[in-house]
Amino acid sequence: MLETIQQLEAIAKRLEPLPENRAEWNKEVQKYADNFLDDFNKHTTFVVSKDLGKPLLDFPIPENGKPIGEVLACLKENVDTPNLNPASGGHFGYIPGGGVFTTALGDYLAAVTNRYAGIFFACPGGVRMENLLLRWMCTMVGYPSNALGNLTSGGSIANLSAITTARDAKGIKARDVEKCVIYMTQQLHHCVQKSLRIAGMKECIIRYIPMDETFKMIPSHLKDQIKADQTSGLLPFMVFASAGTTDTGAIDPLAEIGEIANASDIWFHVDAAYGGFFMLSDSLKKAFKGVELSDSLAIDPHKGLFLSYGIGAILIKNTEALYETHHYTANYMQDAFTLDEDPSPADLSPELTKHFRGLRMWLSLQLMGVAPFRAALEEKVLLCNYFYEEVQKLGFTVGPVPDLSIAIFRYVPAHGDANAFNHQIVERLKEDGRVFLSSTTIEDTYWIRFAVLSFRTHLKEVQLALAILKELV
Ligand SMILES: *Cc1c(COP(=O)(O)O)cnc(C)c1O
Repeated sequence: MLETIQQLEAIAKRLEPLPENRAEWNKEVQKYADNFLDDFNKHTTFVVSKDLGKPLLDFPIPENGKPIGEVLACLKENVDTPNLNPASGGHFGYIPGGGVFTTALGDYLAAVTNRYAGIFFACPGGVRMENLLLRWMCTMVGYPSNALGNLTSGGSIANLSAITTARDAKGIKARDVEKCVIYMTQQLHHCVQKSLRIAGMKECIIRYIPMDETFKMIPSHLKDQIKADQTSGLLPFMVFASAGTTDTGAIDPLAEIGEIANASDIWFHVDAAYGGFFMLSDSLKKAFKGVELSDSLAIDPHKGLFLSYGIGAILIKNTEALYETHHYTANYMQDAFTLDEDPSPADLSPELTKHFRGLRMWLSLQLMGVAPFRAALEEKVLLCNYFYEEVQKLGFTVGPVPDLSIAIFRYVPAHGDANAFNHQIVERLKEDGRVFLSSTTIEDTYWIRFAVLSFRTHLKEVQLALAILKELV
């Protein structure tokens, strides 16, 4: 047996690379990353690909490791080349992502040290760090000092946590679901509908509250609808508002909605996944007046804080409610339960073992400070305003004046189907590849969206987009 153990050990020890192997892998990975970053002006934003990364399937998982050069070449060709490059400053589609370099350093350290940041007992510093970041965001929103939340993988899970917590806090049982009423506009992000289904609330009643011409909820309609539902014996349960819709960046009138929800004792949730971090700017924060009236709020550091994908947050006023929905104990965890000074993420989230995602955010804020983030956000709003003015000079029709950094626009040709014409523009932009824009349909009208949220988007990229649009029409 000892002989077998020793034979196995010799192979298993490859899992701990020797210092010289580690140095080589570090060097090659760093070179790959540096090439990616240094060559940014050589990259296009969209690369039309015939094989769509399919050769990856002919690169089998080996019994024994392959040389790093071969592996990275496969990655480059099949994963980092085809289709959208979301790290590009020419990315104006959907909600552009981030990818500030310090995210990678934080993840690298989190992965190497592999701290168990889900439980206070195991990593009190890591738990304090994540809670500190949550409290920092709570302060930005105007929540009281006992508010907290959870760092999630993204906005969808943040919205899901808000729904399950609200459901339990309001004592909604399975038998009540068909009488539960939820209020939103047609512009609310689709992940909320998905979350309602996951939360066992698919059969609830959804009231789509009419919007004004700028795609914002009309509060008087909300008030009337709640009253009507109360009168007919239904259970008005939850109001959703958007602080920056995905389609147009519109911010619902949060103060009016909050007052109505609070007066009727209805859970008020704000989806600020896209727009939330604009509150870092005092001048932009005015548009979020009343956000502090909400019970919970979803916000995405992988959008407005320009971090790489994989970090969102749910902020919640009633921390006990979040705990009630998510905590659990198990016999094999008995050593981990001590009288903690700070709540453990594992008690505030569906996750137990989790990525120490707070480190990437903390490291980024510590190394660079808040100033460049705030400046970038203010810059993006102005760039969007600039685009909104300039694109009209090219003959495009525009949607509402942007609240934040998203504008919608379309070209109405003298003859022919305008929707088809604009669809063609979007297709041609993809073929060109220098910039990427996506589209949406609002009440049967096809709009091209211009969303500025990449930290790499500056005046030059916006002017390039305008120049290409000019060529195309
Ligand atoms: C992006 C977005 C979401 C979903 O968040 P993910 O991080 O993609 O899961 C929800 N709501 C709004 C307004 C968004 O922009």
